[in-house]
Amino acid sequence: MSRNTEEQGFKNVKELINDICGQMNIPEICRVRLMECERELTVHFPVRMDDGRVEVFTGFRVVHNDSRGPSKGGIRYHPDVILDEVRALAALMTLKTAVVNIPYGGAKGAVICNPELLSQTELERLTRRYTVEISLLIGPDSDVPAPDVGTNPQVMAWIMDTYSMGKGYSVPAVVTGKPLDIGGSEGRLEATGHGCTIIAQLAAKQKQINLEGATVAVQGFGNVGSAAARWLARAGCRVIAVADVKGGTYNSKGLNIEDLLKYRNGEGGGFVAGFKGGEAMGNGNAKLANAELLGLPCDILVPAALENQITAANAAQVKAKIVVEGANGPTTPDADRILCDKGILVVPDVLANAGGVVVSYLEWVQGMQSFYWDETEVNNYLGGLMTKAFNKVLHINEDEKVDMRTAAYMVALRRLATAMMTRGIFP
Ligand code: GLU
Repeated sequence: MSRNTEEQGFKNVKELINDICGQMNIPEICRVRLMECERELTVHFPVRMDDGRVEVFTGFRVVHNDSRGPSKGGIRYHPDVILDEVRALAALMTLKTAVVNIPYGGAKGAVICNPELLSQTELERLTRRYTVEISLLIGPDSDVPAPDVGTNPQVMAWIMDTYSMGKGYSVPAVVTGKPLDIGGSEGRLEATGHGCTIIAQLAAKQKQINLEGATVAVQGFGNVGSAAARWLARAGCRVIAVADVKGGTYNSKGLNIEDLLKYRNGEGGGFVAGFKGGEAMGNGNAKLANAELLGLPCDILVPAALENQITAANAAQVKAKIVVEGANGPTTPDADRILCDKGILVVPDVLANAGGVVVSYLEWVQGMQSFYWDETEVNNYLGGLMTKAFNKVLHINEDEKVDMRTAAYMVALRRLATAMMTRGIFP
């Protein structure tokens, strides 16, 4: 089943922005600007495949808004990605960077492809050509990409190298999420999952749940899900279930996450199904395993896979006390209302998974000044920025009696409106 047959994602984000702008008396000139993406580039480009054939791929780079600084956002490689989804994800980046108050706007890029079916050399040629195609937009002062679903530090290294070749000198700050050897930052690889854990800690305190021994279910075991599981386990949680696209694994006493990582990276061939330290979920059926995971009785649920996983059809089954959105857009608006009515504390994506872009910002700053920090320093900044953002959103949530998503949007929209009004309209 394709997630994106309907052009719904951007509409959902816009509807929420629109409603909240109305409630907050945000000036009309700001509201209307946020209803559209500032720049949208679609590219169709040829890539020579290993067997000599030439295939034409389609890619996008969308800048939603850059009022608060250079636009920032990941690049996704996925077979089902569509322009509407990239617009929605770019808009979420605008809100995310504003919620955590880092001096960026929001953007997103994507290439319609299945990276699992491409060889390393094909992936490299595709990435280099895509980089040149979007070089109209990207740059350390204009628009700074990073990894997202289906891309990784190696892909960022190729983007950095290709962009630098065009300039004739190294430009490390053109992308973030790079390998450490070429200007990446300590702590970036696990930053999103680490940030989810900081947020889970703060949310648990609100719900008077002791993180020590708290039960956790994680959907997705990619960059975000695996790091979240690891950091939550380190914080003393009992991660009882993990599921990915091929299946799930359950252990009521808590999965050994380090063993699970070893299994995924080796015998499991990239997936968790078949892990000996847990029982198979959903009778070995991946779809059922994911459905079972979302409905497990647990303290904290971390959806860290793709969009639209918690929907009106399954939200009533969610039994977690806290949902920490590791993925972007995992909960549909209808589902959101159901979770809220059930008294579940949902920490929205724009806050919960902002750890990635926060450390991206720290990487960019380090690259711009050619002066690099150690892991403790990076993690201290991350902890400080995430805690400050959480407390600010919580404060609005309590004062205005709105849910955490509305509160986070309120924080972001106020900052965006102030920036737009202060700058004014050109010419
Ligand atoms: N793709 C990540 C996100 O959705 C990271 C973006 C970035 O670091 O620029 O937040």
